[in-house]
Amino acid sequence: MQQPSSHVLTGVHAERQRGVLALVVLLAGLILAVLAGSAAIPARAQGATDTVAQGAGGGAATARPVQPGSQVLAFNPELGVDNQGTSFRMRLNALIQPRAFVLSEPDRLVVEMPEVTFRMPARVGATGKGLIAGWRGGLFAPGRSRLVFDLSAPAQVVRLSVTPDPTTGVATFDLELAPTSRESFRAEAARAKAKIEALPVATAPVERGPAGKGDREMPAGAGSETVPVVVIDPGHGGVDFGTWSRFSEMQEKELVLAVGHLLRDRLVATKRFKVVMTRNTDVFVPLEERVRIARAAKADLFVSLHADAEETPGVHGATIYTLSESASDQRAADLAAKENRADTLAGLDVPEITDEVTDILIDLTRRETMQLSHLVARGMVDELKKSDRAIRTNPHRSAGFKVLKAHDIPSVLIELGFMTNREDVERMASAEGRKTIAETLQRTIEGYFARQMATAAAPVRAGTAQR
Ligand SMILES: [Zn+2]
Repeated sequence: MQQPSSHVLTGVHAERQRGVLALVVLLAGLILAVLAGSAAIPARAQGATDTVAQGAGGGAATARPVQPGSQVLAFNPELGVDNQGTSFRMRLNALIQPRAFVLSEPDRLVVEMPEVTFRMPARVGATGKGLIAGWRGGLFAPGRSRLVFDLSAPAQVVRLSVTPDPTTGVATFDLELAPTSRESFRAEAARAKAKIEALPVATAPVERGPAGKGDREMPAGAGSETVPVVVIDPGHGGVDFGTWSRFSEMQEKELVLAVGHLLRDRLVATKRFKVVMTRNTDVFVPLEERVRIARAAKADLFVSLHADAEETPGVHGATIYTLSESASDQRAADLAAKENRADTLAGLDVPEITDEVTDILIDLTRRETMQLSHLVARGMVDELKKSDRAIRTNPHRSAGFKVLKAHDIPSVLIELGFMTNREDVERMASAEGRKTIAETLQRTIEGYFARQMATAAAPVRAGTAQR
């Protein structure tokens, strides 16, 4: 848990923001109403006054139901433990209707709600208390947010409520958990699973590749007007933060999205690539969906961006990963297991990846695709070594990453650096450092496609024989 001072600061900040927001809404309402000569004044003014009044502690203000288009803020999270069980509390600036369900293997409790912006310290849910081992809140899909609690023991919800405070206008989100038996938890999880399977998972709209790009047998750029499609995959997002730094508030999900956007802009500016992002905002995207986006875009290259963490703070530098049946080393195996947990962290009910599944997955991955992935990885290592940015030992490693499993798309996963190393964090957090990273990635990608074009007479193209 964070120190209480952080919570207070967050809350004050949020309240100030709400105050400003309310004033803007009030003024906008007045102007609109005057312009339109409508009867909108009373309603708008009343709403805005209610919110403004909470700062002064006066009036019969209440948190109001979510208005279309307005932002719901969540802040001041608190965990508590007593004889009855474990409680989680947070504040909201509007009334929402949360819905909870449990998932097993591993044991989790998920609270679904409409889109909420979590104004909370970066590492707030890293540790837990009582029945809650850890937790996270964030966007799960457009319009849908989630709190996901990792449970340390089977638990049941005894209270889930959102109560407005008539004095402050701030609503309190209350979740109380009590221990339950393994059997009843399992039964509850099974009931929830049946319901979830009936629900569609909303996902980000997929940008399609340009018409005619389907002809992948045409070597990229060789007499063709079409350009290679590069899919940039910023890891994690929304409710899944990825890893974080001890040295700053920077989270992996923010870092990789920022670097992804820089890389996209650089590639697009050359007019020699089409770029598709698996996510453009701070939203959760399931691993399978990332692969699906790449395939729908008919990608020529898939680049997944991540940042690493390591117990030894001295370990630094970038590492390039490709898919393999057996991991190149224990680190790679552990890392793949960690990155593959993204869906679990976000509260998706996914079967754990087994060796058997990995085998099938590798069989499906064509040898040519693997060769091309290795080519990209080698180019990346060469580029990184020029600037002494590669990890010291084995900068190219391999393991069973779910997100690299598109069998016809050369795919690499890049750990840009270590969030546990001060120099790496400084580099990855600074504008200059990010620019250098994006440049390196751009040079690698350009070098790879240039080489592909140079060998266009006898191109090694993934999936050529299959289509
Ligand atoms: Zn990651």
